[in-house]
Amino acid sequence: MSMADAVGIWNDELEDQYLAAEYVIMRREKWDHRYMEIAHTVAKWSKDPSTQVGAILVAPGGRQIFWGYNGFPAGVLDAPDLLADREQKYPRVIHAEANALLMSNTDLSDWVCYCTLMPCSNCTAMLIQKGITRVVVPKLTGKHDHWQESFRVARHMADQVGMKIEELTHVI
Ligand SMILES: [Zn+2]
Repeated sequence: MSMADAVGIWNDELEDQYLAAEYVIMRREKWDHRYMEIAHTVAKWSKDPSTQVGAILVAPGGRQIFWGYNGFPAGVLDAPDLLADREQKYPRVIHAEANALLMSNTDLSDWVCYCTLMPCSNCTAMLIQKGITRVVVPKLTGKHDHWQESFRVARHMADQVGMKIEELTHVI
């Protein structure tokens, strides 16, 4: 076999591997966007007038899904004046990720969380505790400045346990 043939064979194999890897990435990106679309739909169900957040928990292989949005516990009056007042709202509200976790009744090891906003430190702590290993968020816009310290703590914890927090590459 000539050197040219050897290089050709090597290149073909490399190209096959490259295409296979690219296919896996493309397929994952496609499903990431699909699940994020569901999360955005669920977010619209929140009655919060300032921040509507949706979260989707997806099993490996996508065969099971739990969802949540931010809101008061069931049966607790979520009147517009309470929702409009942060001092009244924050002590009552359950975040989208927490509601999705509360809906789940199974081991969530290696599940993925799709959330329309970067999870706060409390929700990240709970996601870690339930075994979530990957969190997908939209491309971050720099809004929600009052949450920046909470987001920093969330990322710090995620780094320590190897949980990935990935931003989608483009805005839906
Ligand atoms: Zn939270």
